[in-house]
Amino acid sequence: MKQYDIAIIGGGPAGIMAAIAASRTSDVILLEKNPSLGRKLLLTGGGRCNITNNKPIKQLLTFFNNKNFLKHSFYSFTNENLFSIFDFDFVEEDDNRIFPESGRSKDVLDGLTDKLDGVSISYNFEVKSISEDFVINDKLKADRIIIATGGVTYPQTGCSPDNYALTNQPITDIRYGLSPLVTRKDLSGIAGVGLNDVVISYKKSRVRGDILFSHVGLTGPAVINLSNEISEGITYNLLEGEPVIDLEIAIDLCPDHSREDLMDRFTRDFQDKGKTMLKNYLKQFLTNSFIEYFLSEINLDGDIQLSRINKKSKNRLIENLKRFTFEIVDFNSKLSKVTIGGIDLKYINPKTMESTLVPGLYFAGEVLDLHGPTGGYNLKIAFSTGYLAGLAAAEK
Ligand SMILES: Cc1cc2nc3c(=O)[nH]c(=O)nc-3n(C[C@H](O)[C@H](O)[C@H](O)COP(=O)(O)OP(=O)(O)OC[C@H]3O[C@@H](n4cnc5c(N)ncnc54)[C@H](O)[C@@H]3O)c2cc1C
Repeated sequence: MKQYDIAIIGGGPAGIMAAIAASRTSDVILLEKNPSLGRKLLLTGGGRCNITNNKPIKQLLTFFNNKNFLKHSFYSFTNENLFSIFDFDFVEEDDNRIFPESGRSKDVLDGLTDKLDGVSISYNFEVKSISEDFVINDKLKADRIIIATGGVTYPQTGCSPDNYALTNQPITDIRYGLSPLVTRKDLSGIAGVGLNDVVISYKKSRVRGDILFSHVGLTGPAVINLSNEISEGITYNLLEGEPVIDLEIAIDLCPDHSREDLMDRFTRDFQDKGKTMLKNYLKQFLTNSFIEYFLSEINLDGDIQLSRINKKSKNRLIENLKRFTFEIVDFNSKLSKVTIGGIDLKYINPKTMESTLVPGLYFAGEVLDLHGPTGGYNLKIAFSTGYLAGLAAAEK
């Protein structure tokens, strides 16, 4: 039987980073179910890989579900440490999102795998069980094990809910995260239309940003960020069944104008510009390609002149500009980008990523109960926790 110091299960960003850190001083094997490493990494950022977010750590931490747990790993492995692994540059885009200068996630994957020189890699190796003394199969054993098997979404990239049962470590409820939403109403007529800088809200949660209509519902950064709040607000566990969803979300199409503002303005303009057609007047507030749909939904004729709009219609117009609602009936789960929930952090040491229940067993990346919004936050989790787990396992 071949024995390694450390076996790492899962060759995604967390597992690869753990292998890079651990292999500096230890004999490491990386076990990957797929014929290649980093399948999900290649899909990130639409193929461009939004590798991290460059906000100062203190501010960055506030975006995660468990900032206290992540603190140590973020300070131990900073963005500068991450960039120093690669021999190419990165560019910063809006909202501090960082991408490789080439705009290719493949370059990020290649840059990482170039650093795996001393690591044994077994492809097409799906770990199905781990014994108490860390025997993986009749040919392989390790002193320490790092589990970096990811979450449950995008199963075509190698993730599976079965991995949570590899150990007896307690897990929290598993849910969809960063998911587009399915609407009750058919939106195929406006599929592809986008709305910039609107506020989308569900109960007390509000997210400002861009949204996009799809054939089945709503997507875009603001929607998928809000989906985390929606998902966390519902009681369900994907290991037991799919969620049942029936809720309403609202879009403030004019977040910079209060209702009173709009009332004053419309009252004035409807007199001063009385001959202007409503559909033309609304161009200053709404995306052109959305106006026809919006007006038909609220039963107003776009060809009507402003001077002919009565008070009731004016109120309806303002109410819907401030609160245009959609009924949501599902997550578009095939496109859910991350998993909410995972290995319960109560039993993981945040300074080492080691289980407090099973000495020598470590976890890294999305398999843990950690998630962030869209914008490079989730790869940040994978790389930082992966690095810390690799380093700590090697030092033990
Ligand atoms: C379409 C898409 C776009 C995204 N874009 C971004 C982005 O731009 N920025 C960002 O920060 N985040 C993004 N994310 C999220 C990010 O990709 C994940 O959070 C990240 O990949 C998690 O890394 P991980 O290593 O923990 O898990 P994974 O990347 O899922 O890797 C887990 C690996 O473990 C292997 N594995 C699983 N089970 C076993 C087993 N039993 N035995 C052996 N191997 C196993 C899998 O095959 C896989 O290779 C995106 C996600 C998706 C789906």
